[in-house]
Amino acid sequence: ALRPLIAGNWKMNGTGAALSEVTKLRNHLSGADLADVDILIAPPATLVERFFQAVKGTAIAVGGQDCHASEQGAHTGDVSAQMLADAGATYVIVGHSERRSDYSETDSQVKAKAMAALRAGLTPIVCVGETEAERETGRANQVVSEQLAGSLPETESPDRVVVAYEPVWAIGTGKTPTLADIAAMHTHIRSKLTKRYGAAGPTPRILYGGSVKPANAGEILAIENVDGALVGGASLLADDFFGIISAA
Ligand code: 13P
Repeated sequence: ALRPLIAGNWKMNGTGAALSEVTKLRNHLSGADLADVDILIAPPATLVERFFQAVKGTAIAVGGQDCHASEQGAHTGDVSAQMLADAGATYVIVGHSERRSDYSETDSQVKAKAMAALRAGLTPIVCVGETEAERETGRANQVVSEQLAGSLPETESPDRVVVAYEPVWAIGTGKTPTLADIAAMHTHIRSKLTKRYGAAGPTPRILYGGSVKPANAGEILAIENVDGALVGGASLLADDFFGIISAA
């Protein structure tokens, strides 16, 4: 198995007051054996620099939740991958289903963002996942295949890419696929990644996301080809997030 990555996506939550949760997580982790797990928090862009200052010297990495495909320019309201890197980020989430639905982001835009992330030295976390209707009509594998084909960046270093499988219907709902369904999808994604980047050499990690909690993290993270988790709601509180990290 690949070294697991436990990533927290804070979405549009948190102000400076949330730094207390980061401090609490630091304290939890200081007594823990973290040799075998990578840890990431992706706060809103306004907090990246402050979180980076708060976790410097620890095993916790900081990331962005989105980036523009360009390095700079006339794009009001956007943040570039270089800017995130400058603020201390080492990862950036791209193509989250909330951005695909809120901003109609297409696979080719997601790919351009992932390529921009790599150029800036960031590790892109490329999100894919089917809707409930797509799963119910038996199209989940096909939808995810198409998203992967269109969204994955070209790279000579596929281990600098992370894929996150997040079934849209499992996000924030408390519903999760069966363990067998997660296993089947991750095996499917692995086979696509092998075709895309080659069987020999490094390969992207594949995270599962969607209603991951301390109570279900252990069984999900034990599945073959599940190389970590992308956690929303349960990453906001240090106690819950630490519970998930401890399950890895
Ligand atoms: P929840 O863990 O809140 O279901 O969110 C998952 C997610 O979208 C992480 O990116």
